Amino acid sequence: MSKTPHEIKKEVVLYSHIMDEKGLVNSLEGNLSILDRESGLLYITPTATRKAFLDEDMIAVMDGDEQVGGSVRRSSEYLLHKVALESRPDCNAVLHCHSPYLTAYAFCGKGVDIDCSTTFSILHDGIPCIPYGEPGKIDITNGLKDAIQSHDIVLLANHGIVCVAKDLEHACAVVEATEAVMRIHFLATVQGMTPLSIPEAALEKMKADKRGTAPSK
Ligand SMILES: [Zn+2]
Repeated sequence: MSKTPHEIKKEVVLYSHIMDEKGLVNSLEGNLSILDRESGLLYITPTATRKAFLDEDMIAVMDGDEQVGGSVRRSSEYLLHKVALESRPDCNAVLHCHSPYLTAYAFCGKGVDIDCSTTFSILHDGIPCIPYGEPGKIDITNGLKDAIQSHDIVLLANHGIVCVAKDLEHACAVVEATEAVMRIHFLATVQGMTPLSIPEAALEKMKADKRGTAPSK
């Protein structure tokens, strides 16, 4: 059974509060959305509002480019969410944030490709970084359509990250776990240590086991 508009808004509010509590979004940075594919409406956090103070009435409802609900103006980044979700019909939720350990790479225009963490390798086949585009403008989505086809997280140069998933629970979980990995990676490298690579064959076997495609012995 599909969710009611109230249930969708409640979910956006809940995960906005959780991400705020974790320091992954703040009043001026980051936004969350859910697309109701039945009605075509996008429910997105409003602009310049402390996420911890959000309630259901404040969630902006977008019908295409028109705001049709919500007591506060929609986030300026709704175009980013719209393009990401148009490109990924298997996903219904977007978390855009400036999570520090991933955004450090985005600030340098670098993608992430590490092979020292099983968590990272299960979740990602590398994380690409697309070129800079002005926030709030359609330019920010240049390169996003292609990059997000095969990656759930894409870095936006000099800006932040965008993560798509089937729902907000998964989007937030993937960003939290990836940030945790990148924090550990930073802690190792900042001390001058080099993380060990997990042997490629072991990583491939693990991924195949997860997919249930490992050859039976
Ligand atoms: Zn942003």
